[in-house]
Amino acid sequence: MGNSYDVIIIGAGLSGLSAAHFLAKLSHAELRVAVIEKTSRPGGAIKTFNSEGYQGEWGPHGFLDNTPESQELLRDIDLYREAQQAPLGDFFRYICHRGQLERLPQSLSTALKTPLVSVGGKLRVFADLWKRPKMEDQTIADWVNYRFGPAILPLADAAVSGTFAGDFNRLSIDAVMPGVRALEKETGSVLRGLIKKKRAARGASKLARLPSMLNFPTGMERLVKALAGKKEIKYNAAVKGIRRDKVWTVSTEAGEFEAAQLIVALPVNQALRLLSAFKAPPVVEIPTARIINVVMGLPDSAEVPYGFGYLAPEQEHRFAVGAMFTSHMFPDRSPRACRLIEVLVGGRRHPERLTLSDSEIEARAVKDIGALINLPEPPLFIRVLRTEHAIPQLEMDHSALLRWRQSVESDLTGLYICGFGWDGIGMNDMIKSARKTAAAAAAGGERWMEELQVKPVYF
Ligand SMILES: Cc1cc2nc3c(=O)[nH]c(=O)nc-3n(C[C@H](O)[C@H](O)[C@H](O)COP(=O)(O)OP(=O)(O)OC[C@H]3O[C@@H](n4cnc5c(N)ncnc54)[C@H](O)[C@@H]3O)c2cc1C
Repeated sequence: MGNSYDVIIIGAGLSGLSAAHFLAKLSHAELRVAVIEKTSRPGGAIKTFNSEGYQGEWGPHGFLDNTPESQELLRDIDLYREAQQAPLGDFFRYICHRGQLERLPQSLSTALKTPLVSVGGKLRVFADLWKRPKMEDQTIADWVNYRFGPAILPLADAAVSGTFAGDFNRLSIDAVMPGVRALEKETGSVLRGLIKKKRAARGASKLARLPSMLNFPTGMERLVKALAGKKEIKYNAAVKGIRRDKVWTVSTEAGEFEAAQLIVALPVNQALRLLSAFKAPPVVEIPTARIINVVMGLPDSAEVPYGFGYLAPEQEHRFAVGAMFTSHMFPDRSPRACRLIEVLVGGRRHPERLTLSDSEIEARAVKDIGALINLPEPPLFIRVLRTEHAIPQLEMDHSALLRWRQSVESDLTGLYICGFGWDGIGMNDMIKSARKTAAAAAAGGERWMEELQVKPVYF
């Protein structure tokens, strides 16, 4: 009976750990819960880097403080006050435009003046008010082009590279922005829908403020370590197979475990490997994108513009997808009189760059950044971080995959699926989906539909 539980959660990444947290919180009875993890540490993609006084991230660098489920989680584990905040309203974000960094407009008045889009391009955006919504799914590029015109494509491209490390010619608008699509279909126009929503929010006296980016003084790993806390986690126990008789039996490298309910909190492809025997999925696997982070310590003479960082649309033909100006966002992550920036390379469009040697990546990243930012002296510190965690891409077959998940969950009593790439890819998406999953498991399988969210900031 030692290996028998009420609920087993596979995966001790942010999804699995959040699901365990909410399960304990939302269950009326005290449940025996075990989290089963392949590696020897919690956190999955979330891992903080520390060397010679520089602190960077292998995975996520920040998440926005605008999601109630994440706020709840942080309060529950007493991390809300500890979190460092970088308010979007106080920082600039930059786009690489014709070889230079231009500020991304943060308000209507700056949007009207921005050199990023021509006057004709700006006027074309309003055609959205008359364009009839297309009901079928489209790539993000096709959708943006149809609704807002070609002048907006570089901005959308940068947004998609900055979040998914993805290719907007392949990602599905229905999968990536379901809330915006619902608004478009309901009101006939994205702009009209947004205006309506804003008016309704004012009526409900909600303060319209831009959110803040969050991280922790000791890095993002703080969150997953705090979540792992006193939970029962079986480390070094890669799951090899799952059986279902009267209960669920999970076979791992560290033995077999049984439970009445099973939460699979894994990235889409790992979940498909374990679950496809129960019902054939529409795809064997989905595409993923890997990204390299070049952690760069710069002397004080480097003229890093004030802001979060920049993104480069593909048409700019740059080596780096973009960079985060970490020292501006979250100070004290480098030795005194130095600055830290983190440069991103690779992604869905440039997997070939992942195969370059560290020294070549370092040299090309420094050259690329040096053409955008004045670097009178060479970097003081440079390190190439290659994470094995890839970002799932929500491309055109994603809707079919979600229908498959729904049918598997309803056919197989006691099975719940969440994790990286199912309901989005960001940390807020994971926490939200994990809470929903935990609530359904705590209620013995009862699920509810929720209102689709329109995110105010996509990058
Ligand atoms: C490079 C990169 C940058 C990112 N940047 C951001 C960002 O800035 N902001 C943001 O909001 N999000 C960002 N993300 C996304 C964020 O990291 C994810 O949303 C989140 O970490 C996913 O958590 P997860 O638990 O679903 O998956 P994972 O973190 O992948 O965790 C899954 C866990 O399951 C374990 N596992 C896998 N297979 C098995 C098995 N067979 N048996 C047992 N255990 C198994 C793994 O070891 C892992 O611990 C980034 C992701 C990456 C990769």
